[in-house]
Amino acid sequence: MKEIKITFLALSRTTELDIKSDNEIGSIVNDLLMVFAKEIDYKNFKIDIDSLQQNIPDFKTKIDGVVQKYKDVNPKIQQINSYFKELKDNEYFFVFPNASISKEQSFQFYNYLSALEKNEDFEKVTKQIDDLFGVLMDSYEMFAFDENTRNKIGEPDKSKRICRFCNKPNGEVSFKKVAHSISEALGNKKIITNDECDSCNEEFGTGIENDLILYLNLYRNVFGIKGKNGIPKLKGKNFEIENKGTIEIKQILTDEEINDPNRDDFKIRLESNQNITTQNIYKTLSKYALGVIDRTQIANFSDTIEWINGTKNIDNLPKIAMFTSYDLFTIHPKLMVYLRKTDDNKLPYAVAEFRFTFLTFVYVIPNSSKDTTDFTQDENFKHFWEFFKHYSSVPHWKFQKMNDNIARQFVMNLNFEPKEKK
Ligand SMILES: [Zn+2]
Repeated sequence: MKEIKITFLALSRTTELDIKSDNEIGSIVNDLLMVFAKEIDYKNFKIDIDSLQQNIPDFKTKIDGVVQKYKDVNPKIQQINSYFKELKDNEYFFVFPNASISKEQSFQFYNYLSALEKNEDFEKVTKQIDDLFGVLMDSYEMFAFDENTRNKIGEPDKSKRICRFCNKPNGEVSFKKVAHSISEALGNKKIITNDECDSCNEEFGTGIENDLILYLNLYRNVFGIKGKNGIPKLKGKNFEIENKGTIEIKQILTDEEINDPNRDDFKIRLESNQNITTQNIYKTLSKYALGVIDRTQIANFSDTIEWINGTKNIDNLPKIAMFTSYDLFTIHPKLMVYLRKTDDNKLPYAVAEFRFTFLTFVYVIPNSSKDTTDFTQDENFKHFWEFFKHYSSVPHWKFQKMNDNIARQFVMNLNFEPKEKK
C-alpha cells in the first residue's frame, strides 16, 4: 500500500487529502502534480511545483481531468473536486505534497494569502498580525475545532476509554452513543469527543446544555441552524416563530395590549415557557472546551469538572465577553482553546472562544488548578483581556456576568428599527 498526503491551504478552506492505493498511486500522484507543475525535468523524473496556485478555470478543467481518469479506481480522489468547488473563483491557494505544515507555518501562509486578497503588502500585514498575535503565541498554545475537524477527540479504542467528566472507565459506564463535544442542536456535526460516557452525555443533554440552547434558540431559528430534528419552531407563552425561508413571528396579544394606545409594534417582548439558569450557560461553554482539549490536560481541571457536574458551587465567575459580527458568520460552530505554556500566573491557564452564527463568546475556563489569580477581580480581568490584543483591539465587546444560579423565566426583547425608504 502506497500513500501520499497533499495539503491544500486557502483562506476559505484548508484540507488534507490522503490518497492510498495498491498500484495506481504513482500515476495518480504524477498526474496530480503535473497540474501544479512549474517545471518538469523529464530526464530525472523530477516535477518542480509552484506552491502558490490560483483557482482559475483552466486549472479546474485540468484537475477535473485527473479526477475523472482515476475516480473509478480511487473514489476518494473526488474530494479534490469538492474542495475546489468550495473555493472562490480565482482564489489563491497553496499546495503542499507530502509536507507537514506546522501551525506557525500555516499562520504565515494565511497571512500571505490575506495580503494577496486585499492587495496589501505582505511585510506590512505580517507585521500587523505579529503585533496582534506575536506575544500571545509565545505564551499560549492554540487549538482550533470546526467543520474541518477530521479526527474524533480522545481515546479511539473503546475498551480503554475513561470518561473525562466522571472519570469512570468503560465497563463501569458505557460509550455506545456518539458524544458531540458541542451540542448537536447548535449545528455541530464534526466535533466529537470519544471519552464522554453515555451517562454524562445524557446528563449534559437533558441538563446544562439546554440552557445554552434555549439562550441561542432565536438565532438557531433565524439563521436556520439544523440540529438532529431540523430547524426548531419556537413556541412560547405569547409567541410563535417559524423559519419557512422567511421568518414568521406571531405574537399573541392580550385584550389589554390590543387596546393599549401606546403599544409599540417595533418592540416585542417574547416570553418563553421555559426557565433558564444563566450560570449553566457558562458551565456548558466550559464543558465544550474541556471536551476538546487533550485528555492529559483534564487533571488540571478537576474543580472545574466538579462545578460543571454540580457537585461544587462557584458564586462568582469571570465576565464573559460577547461580540456580534456578520463578517465572522459561521453555519458550523467553531471552538478555539488557548492553553498557557508559561508560568505567568497573571494570565489565565485556559481561555476559550466559542463562535455560533454571528456571535462570538470569549471566556476564561474557571478554577483550573494551574491558576492562582482571581479573574473575577476587574484589574486581573483587564490584564488578561488586554493581553489578548486581537480581541481587545476590536471595539464593541459586551461583558456579561453569568453568575445567576437560579432558574428564571426566559424573556427575549426584540427591538425592530424602522428603516426609512430611500
Ligand atoms: Zn461520564
